[in-house]
Amino acid sequence: MTWEERWHPLREEWIIIAAHRQHRPWNGETIEHEDSPLPAFVSDCYLCPGNVRVSGKRNADYRGTYVFDNDHPCVGPDAPDEAAPVNGLYRRQSARGIARVVCYSPRHNLTLAELEVSEIENLLRVWQQQYVDLGSGKGINHVLIFENKGEAVGVSNPHPHCQIYATNFIFKTIETEARVSQKHLVETGRVLFRDILKAEQQDGRRIICENDSAIAFLPYFARYAYEVYVAPKETHASLATLSLKEVCDFSRAIKCLLVKLDNLWQIPFPYVMTLHQAPTDGDGYDGFHFHIEIHPPLRQPNLLKYLAGPEIGGGNFLSDTSPEEKAAELIAQPDVHYKVNADSLVTT
Ligand SMILES: [Zn+2]
Ligand SMILES: [Zn+2]
Repeated sequence: MTWEERWHPLREEWIIIAAHRQHRPWNGETIEHEDSPLPAFVSDCYLCPGNVRVSGKRNADYRGTYVFDNDHPCVGPDAPDEAAPVNGLYRRQSARGIARVVCYSPRHNLTLAELEVSEIENLLRVWQQQYVDLGSGKGINHVLIFENKGEAVGVSNPHPHCQIYATNFIFKTIETEARVSQKHLVETGRVLFRDILKAEQQDGRRIICENDSAIAFLPYFARYAYEVYVAPKETHASLATLSLKEVCDFSRAIKCLLVKLDNLWQIPFPYVMTLHQAPTDGDGYDGFHFHIEIHPPLRQPNLLKYLAGPEIGGGNFLSDTSPEEKAAELIAQPDVHYKVNADSLVTT
């Protein structure tokens, strides 16, 4: 089985080949329908507390968040060593790194949008710790923290969780953001992302939630219909240096944003959420401004944005929607989660 990283000379990026994972039971074991209420505990869920995973390891009987090494890692300490070079052009390297899973809550039937702000704060502190711990590891040049949510992005287990890939290479999007941010800093003396925040605040039409130190918005240049960002207003290269107050404000901004997304069509809104943090390769990243990007694949309740000719073939996005209109839809949503409303209607 091939397990290594291969360099794409035309795109100048690494591809992880992890052919050993193709039969992994990670996705698709149980299909649960979003409209039927889920139980808080599922005995054959590999993420619920106390259950045995496919590897034979047993989850702790955890009460808050729970972090464990991925049983089917795409990068891992056991990845084969680099083999002999293939030929003069092609390059490869060992798929070394650490892959982890972070459960947000012991409750199977919650989503990030439904966690209390204090629980989101705890999660942010776990992310801070993981970024620092993994990023300081030997040979770890980048820590990618991301959540795939919903069957629309291939995740059938609704248990709230994210993944961490701590890798020997820097993911392409982060590398690009780091490079253009550095260029902007050298040329203007300013942080690029701060200029983006300023532009968004001056316009105002695409800001979804805002408090003292955090802001959530649908950017002017959104590629997906409901693509939204959350960021601290002050510049931090990663979330590791956020103060307690900033962690609190940031948690409130994420909560507000995710609640509005869920409320839009009264469904658990599917998305890919990624923390964009500075690489951990030891270089300076003064111009890098930590933020979270959320990329929902849906354009309408049952309409996926397919990536096709322009996006896959050409590499540029073709958006069929107006960012201002989509932002207005989200701004108009209540900031109390629809399930809370439904519960209170039943009880009153
Ligand atoms: Zn579960
Ligand atoms: Zn970004």
